[in-house]
Amino acid sequence: MGGRPGPLSVGVIGAGTAGPAAAILLARAGARVTLFERVAAPSPVGAGLLLQPTGLAVLARLGCLAPVLERGAPIARLKGVTPTGRTVLDLAYRARRPDLAGLGVHRGSLFAALLAALAPAGVEVRTGVAIDDLDAPVLAGCDLVIVADGARSTLRAAVGPVRRAAPYPYGALWCLGRDPERRFDGELFQVYRGARQMLGLLPSGCAPGDDTPLCSLFWSLPMAGPRGVEAVRAAGLDAWRRDALSLCPRAEPLLSQVDDLDALLTAPYYDVVMTRTIRVDPAHGSAAVVLGDAAHAMSPQLGQGANLALLDAAALADAVLAQGAVSNPGQLASALLAYERARRGPVRTYQRLSRWLTPIFQSDHDGLAAVRDRVFGPLCRVPPVRRLMLDALCGVKTGLLGASEPPILALPAAE
Ligand SMILES: Cc1cc2nc3c(=O)[nH]c(=O)nc-3n(C[C@H](O)[C@H](O)[C@H](O)COP(=O)(O)OP(=O)(O)OC[C@H]3O[C@@H](n4cnc5c(N)ncnc54)[C@H](O)[C@@H]3O)c2cc1C
Repeated sequence: MGGRPGPLSVGVIGAGTAGPAAAILLARAGARVTLFERVAAPSPVGAGLLLQPTGLAVLARLGCLAPVLERGAPIARLKGVTPTGRTVLDLAYRARRPDLAGLGVHRGSLFAALLAALAPAGVEVRTGVAIDDLDAPVLAGCDLVIVADGARSTLRAAVGPVRRAAPYPYGALWCLGRDPERRFDGELFQVYRGARQMLGLLPSGCAPGDDTPLCSLFWSLPMAGPRGVEAVRAAGLDAWRRDALSLCPRAEPLLSQVDDLDALLTAPYYDVVMTRTIRVDPAHGSAAVVLGDAAHAMSPQLGQGANLALLDAAALADAVLAQGAVSNPGQLASALLAYERARRGPVRTYQRLSRWLTPIFQSDHDGLAAVRDRVFGPLCRVPPVRRLMLDALCGVKTGLLGASEPPILALPAAE
């Protein structure tokens, strides 16, 4: 950072979503970028992710939109109901703007699209390398270290103070089911019984190398205690399936594919808040920034995890370019400060919304859920409130009241 002549040298830690996206954008801008991933042979692990119009716009900028659209499943609305069929949430993207939609995508297909763009951008990828220290010898010579090592980051505290990094009491069991007839297509569908039980169905497109349409099934539950993950596993498959069927009979074609509870994977959710996500003091070595879940993991209620990671990467590239830091690493401090200013409002807003909404949808507070069941459905129909909710869903909130206009997507043919 001390005025070394360019080009900028960047080390990126973590090949999830934020890391590759930042690596591609910075390498294309002329930086020398090396991406480190601890897994030796990254494989298509994970269920469906929901991408919002804002995240899709970043994928278009990365040149990755076409392959992701091809493998993904368009989502027109978020629909949430009680077991008796009362509507709790009904948010159609087109009510915000007719061209808008979300996209359900298999995590592996998103990863494959990003991976394919790394080499052409000139990014050097080193897999099987776990970085356990920002002063690790492999990072020597980097002007900028990007920490994108996910929700359970072991490196973020070396960049800035961490105000909170705790698991939520609730998480989920999930699985992917085949949906060859595409009967779940078109919407993210959720059924709520109080705040204690939720079953979610997210059409997730296709996994890499297989053209069978898939649908992710999420079963929300406490991580511990008498209704927790271990208790559900101990009670056995039939008990869980009965419970899930009574909540959501239409999930039967997916539930019947689960023949062993071990096929359900456990997904803990984290609440991560950092006071500062950048390090610009040259006395501490290279400049550093934390992106994605490592900086702000949240519960998936708002479907923003991958989206915020993509937006972080785009904002970092914008700030580095605007400050001319690719050719002049001496400008890194001002670039990182500009990055932090640009992301503070949106990230804090989503962190707050996530923390407020999570107890209403996933907690032991059934009283809150009873109010939710009566109030949310009618609220979704009040135009100004509906607009606020849709802005939050689309990923364009910049503050509790502020929002930017959702991007107009450059469709593949027009890219
Ligand atoms: C295996 C896995 C499965 C997931 N499945 C789902 C899912 O089904 N649904 C969903 O909504 N979200 C899922 N997520 C989370 C989702 O991918 C993220 O919320 C989102 O993509 C934000 O990405 P990120 O880049 O910030 O972090 P992540 O996608 O978590 O990526 C972090 C990367 O850093 C690597 N890493 C960690 N520590 C080190 C280290 N010390 N050195 C080098 N590399 C390191 C990890 O191996 C990982 O590849 C999953 C994440 C992972 C890692």
